[in-house]
Amino acid sequence: MLEPAISLVLTKLKEIRDSQEWRPRVSRDVLLRFVESRLRESQVAAGKSELLELLNCRVSSCTKCPHLAQRRTQTVFGVGNPDAELMFVGEAPGADEDARGEPFVGRAGQLLTRIIETMGLTRGDVYIANILKCRPDMPEGVSGNRPPTSEEMETCISYLLEQVRIIQPRVIVALGATAVEGLLGVRRTMRELRGRWHSFEDTPLMITYHPSYLLRNPMLSEKRKVWEDMLAVLEHLEKPISEKQRKYFLSAND
Ligand code: URA
Repeated sequence: MLEPAISLVLTKLKEIRDSQEWRPRVSRDVLLRFVESRLRESQVAAGKSELLELLNCRVSSCTKCPHLAQRRTQTVFGVGNPDAELMFVGEAPGADEDARGEPFVGRAGQLLTRIIETMGLTRGDVYIANILKCRPDMPEGVSGNRPPTSEEMETCISYLLEQVRIIQPRVIVALGATAVEGLLGVRRTMRELRGRWHSFEDTPLMITYHPSYLLRNPMLSEKRKVWEDMLAVLEHLEKPISEKQRKYFLSAND
């Protein structure tokens, strides 16, 4: 699907160049946007995977935050089913994600995978992405991760918006207060935000704790809160919920 569209554009550009009449100057970003708009207009609708692939090409060469572009190993676009009904949004890649090029693969990611599996789904059924596509840089020689700044999130959010518009999930889950700030532009405590339905671009948005919060606070009461949010998501998606699933984290045996 992509190859014919790109080669059509390249052939046209070559013709213009060879005609010597006009020397086109076009950035990779503009070219990719052009191909995207042509694909959108074309008779044969471009698939979601192709549109995501094109967007990923633009993201991978993005330098809108020069300090992040300079220090990243690679951008971390997103992973999962382009047709997912359910999309999880975190804040930004950490060191593990920067190294692997995939969101949520470190300790917090392993916990997110367990949550998804407890819901009766797999990582391949859902789509996982972050507000920021680059790892927030750390001072030389300092390990660990830092949260993204408001400015970094404002700069990067348009990419997530495009991912949401392509995938069109039925539900989005925002993981933690920073992801909420990136999505909704509001800074509130998780106590005020979580456990209720909100909306992002007309898509129902459930807000829950970030898995790293659960790693720092592994009490049953906190796990249960996240699980109640996930039960609400399953109900909204009209997925079957077993008795066992309903009772998770209500007793110390879980
Ligand atoms: N935390 C996030 O918010 N995103 C990741 O990809 C990993 C950890």
